[in-house]
Amino acid sequence: MARPRRGTVFLVGAGPGDPGLLTVRGLELLRRAEVVIHDNLCNPALLGEAPEGAEIVDAGKHSGSPTPRQAHVLRRMIRRAREGRSVVRLKGGDPFVFGRGGEEAEALARAKIRFEIVPGVTSAIAAPGAAGIPVTHRARASGFAVVTGHEDPAKKGDVVDYGALARFRGTLIFLMSVRRLDDVVARLRAAGKPAATPAALVRWGTRAAQQTLVERLDRIAVRAAAAGFRPPAVFAVGETVACRSAISWIEKRPMFGARVLVTRARRRAHELCAKLQDLGAEALSVPMIETLPLRNRAVAAAARRADAWDWIVFSSAEGVDGFLGAVLAERGDLRALGSARLAAVGEATAARLAARGLRAALVAREGTAAALARALCRRGDWRGKRVLLPGSAIGGRVLERALCARDADARFLPVYRTRRPRWTWEISTLEQSEVEVAVFTSSSTVRHFAALLKGPRLSRPCARRLRGCAHVSIGPSTTAALRREGFRVAAQARRPTVEALAAAAVRAWRERRRRR
Ligand code: SAH
Repeated sequence: MARPRRGTVFLVGAGPGDPGLLTVRGLELLRRAEVVIHDNLCNPALLGEAPEGAEIVDAGKHSGSPTPRQAHVLRRMIRRAREGRSVVRLKGGDPFVFGRGGEEAEALARAKIRFEIVPGVTSAIAAPGAAGIPVTHRARASGFAVVTGHEDPAKKGDVVDYGALARFRGTLIFLMSVRRLDDVVARLRAAGKPAATPAALVRWGTRAAQQTLVERLDRIAVRAAAAGFRPPAVFAVGETVACRSAISWIEKRPMFGARVLVTRARRRAHELCAKLQDLGAEALSVPMIETLPLRNRAVAAAARRADAWDWIVFSSAEGVDGFLGAVLAERGDLRALGSARLAAVGEATAARLAARGLRAALVAREGTAAALARALCRRGDWRGKRVLLPGSAIGGRVLERALCARDADARFLPVYRTRRPRWTWEISTLEQSEVEVAVFTSSSTVRHFAALLKGPRLSRPCARRLRGCAHVSIGPSTTAALRREGFRVAAQARRPTVEALAAAAVRAWRERRRRR
């Protein structure tokens, strides 16, 4: 009898918030996790890296809902591991910096569960860094100390030694200190820390919501209270805070502060999200469309005779996957394509062919079907040629008609269909994230988005917020779809490319900030 598989728990540091700051090992584990248990400091965008179908458990606390008790989270983690699953316990920052990671590892060891610790970039260093505050500096600080600011003053035993902290000639970094700022400052002052020591609060460091407040030590608590400064934030005290005026950098990026919803299919969202992140935005991918390959007799027959075509014209990456998947299923080898020549519409489609080791003899620019037909016809003699056009179930037949009009024997073949995704945990990420810009790359994503806003699954305030976003479109037909659904279009890309779409998002964001 096969022995049951042994499960493992990976205590993974999610980093301070920017998804790019997860470690390579962490990402690798997340991508093959069967269960992901995350807390509320983790950026929900990371959850999109988990495989479809993975169980996603929110162990964080949110206003309105009670915190699942630590013991409950632990029990679940252990149960899943005993069932043989690979469990990623994703914790904000580093799992061993005030994250109760130590206690969780002890419990796993007691339960004899195999575990691994994957360190993370801690907010203690990253949040000040994102605000232009180095924790050490040759001329200003010869070290740094990371201390809890949450300590109960009545606590006995291992207490923070404020005398030592006040004497320490380095940067002091307090976590969990916002609600006790008065107390922390008073204790530092009482222990002799000078009133004029530079201090800073950095909230949601490396996230779009990053906010920084710089003030002298003796005044910062009053300023923070007046500004309504809320957790989570890191409190930094020391001479290195003064570096910020010269080296703050995150705030200078064109999309700093923007939270952008990307609605395109998951597999195609990655490049756009990366581009938006480069510009300083926080991208949240919640696909409003899902593609499914069509497997029917017509597809199987066309795939079996793959070498009977003179040309196969692919108009999308999904078409490539759909048809070549069928060829592999029917014939087991892509050489079954024989001497059929391949054409691709758009670089992304050509790239998908290239990823399978296939070169497109002809690559046409993206555009309307009619323009495409003209471009194709200019570039080849189609008379009498047998042409296969694998596409979407709802794709137009314009190309087929145009080629037939040039005496080609063209056949449009639906090889995939799209549908409205069954949103699950993604709905909750939408509820929590205050996106202000939403990007659309097709009219179906617009329709599904509109249906979601009207339906019962989102809370009213969230639906209202999403309706009030700056809506950005990839081109004329998507813009028309947005208008039909009653959305105001803030910007339209000048070309149907990722770069142009990101540039349109920048324009929409600038306009939104100007209006505020
Ligand atoms: N393990 C985490 C810390 C957990 S304790 C780490 O290594 O970062 C929770 C505290 O971390 C919060 O109260 C806050 O002080 C700090 N924190 C976490 N993420 C933060 C962020 N992005 N910006 C500022 N502070 C953060």
